[in-house]
Amino acid sequence: MLTSKGTPGRPLRVAIIGSGPSGFYAAESLLRQKELSVAVDIFDRLPTPYGLVRGGVAPDHQKIKSVVIVYEKVASLPGLRFFGNVKLGQDIQVGDLRRHYDQIVYAVGNESDRRLSIPGEDLPGNHSATAFVGWYNGHPDYREQTFDLGQENAAVIGIGNVAMDVTRILARDPADLEKTDIAGHALAALKKSKVKTIYLLGRRGPAQAAYSPAEINEIGELQSSDLVIDPKEVELDALSRAALLSPEDKKNVDYVTARSKLGEGAKEKKVRLRFCSSPVEASGNGRIEKLKIEKNKLISDGKGGVKAVGTGVYETLPVGLVFRSVGYRGIPIPNVPFDDKGGKIPNAQGRVLDASGQILPGEYVVGWAKRGPSGLIGTNRADSVATVKAMLEDAAAGRFGGGSVNADDEAVPGLLTQSGIRFVSFNDWKCLDRLEVQRGAQAGKIREKFTRIPEMLSAISAKLVS
Ligand code: NAP
Repeated sequence: MLTSKGTPGRPLRVAIIGSGPSGFYAAESLLRQKELSVAVDIFDRLPTPYGLVRGGVAPDHQKIKSVVIVYEKVASLPGLRFFGNVKLGQDIQVGDLRRHYDQIVYAVGNESDRRLSIPGEDLPGNHSATAFVGWYNGHPDYREQTFDLGQENAAVIGIGNVAMDVTRILARDPADLEKTDIAGHALAALKKSKVKTIYLLGRRGPAQAAYSPAEINEIGELQSSDLVIDPKEVELDALSRAALLSPEDKKNVDYVTARSKLGEGAKEKKVRLRFCSSPVEASGNGRIEKLKIEKNKLISDGKGGVKAVGTGVYETLPVGLVFRSVGYRGIPIPNVPFDDKGGKIPNAQGRVLDASGQILPGEYVVGWAKRGPSGLIGTNRADSVATVKAMLEDAAAGRFGGGSVNADDEAVPGLLTQSGIRFVSFNDWKCLDRLEVQRGAQAGKIREKFTRIPEMLSAISAKLVS
């Protein structure tokens, strides 16, 4: 049975927190369905939309970024408003949202990263991949970070696709990046980089690598560096040999096996891919100078997979720069349930659960905040559609949060203005977007991003776009 909420006179009011892929796919699904009238407000803590598509996807992967064309179309649908530069828990509170919206969708992603918990992890020179990726992509959070690229030897820990991005950016000839949207400060620093050797450390074997075949192939095909692998390390252990490998895993094994036969190569830079190797200690005089690693063997994890255990055989790598790339995790939002162990928002098929495991009516979650940091951009579409299905079912059944909702469209912008929050509309963003493209054209690049929030806001205010 339809409730009065969801009619043209009183659309279902939805707040989506986060304007990355999962947020936009949720908005798309809500606005393109025909059952209910819906009004969607998307909030983002940055003045710029698109989450990891802008701040995560590597600058040499421009094709992947073209997905924003879809999000731009969604942004132009009637019923959608964008409020950039509004941080939940700081500029607006969850309680405010509960008073102004029938449903809230957390599309906040995973903004932090997992740690290794090894001695020396916090020595200068040790960084998260998150920081490096944010830095080269011009994310304001990482604008002031510095990386000592004067070091000749670096290590990247973890062999997922983020590790591949970090390794590629270090191993590539920076000239390849000149025309991309890489942040100007990062391009300048990479041009002076002295990094020659990158140890890429996987704790399990070649059959368990988390990278995609395309990503490891790309590292192997770089003009500027050789991918060097010890043939002994690509030999499969008994458990991996006995396992039924997925087509992707088989491709990965075949590729590294072929590469391992090519030896050292003659290129200036080397990516040394090491399997069954775990870092156990970072050390140095005031900064990282050495990374002690332990050789692993693989044993059954009792759940049909394999896990790595140390063998007590150690080696020390002389590295001055370390990037840990062992997965992302979410950070809690004040007054929103959080599963600290899993690093995500507890939920049942997208319906947020409170501390006692009960459904919190009217609150939902999508993307990495829902399922953890897995999958490609497109994975988020089906995932958001599934959450929206639950939202529409709940709306149709009248299952909402407890309090009354102020449905005045102007109430939230009014509240923000009253609190002195300079929020950014989608038109403001388009103005900034054009300006970035113009600045890029002057430098022969796809775009030159603004990388500091005050600069973004002044550029919008000055309406510098012709
Ligand atoms: P990921 O795919 O989960 O890879 C994490 C890596 O860290 C794995 O190799 C994992 O090894 C390792 N690891 C975890 N804990 C460790 C520890 N304590 N010590 C040593 N190694 C450890 O995560 P991600 O690379 O951050 O990527 C996140 C998601 O984004 C993935 O779905 C990825 O495909 C996607 N992504 C895609 C692209 C692209 O398509 N171009 C680019 C970037 C990211 P185990 O396997 O042994 O756990």
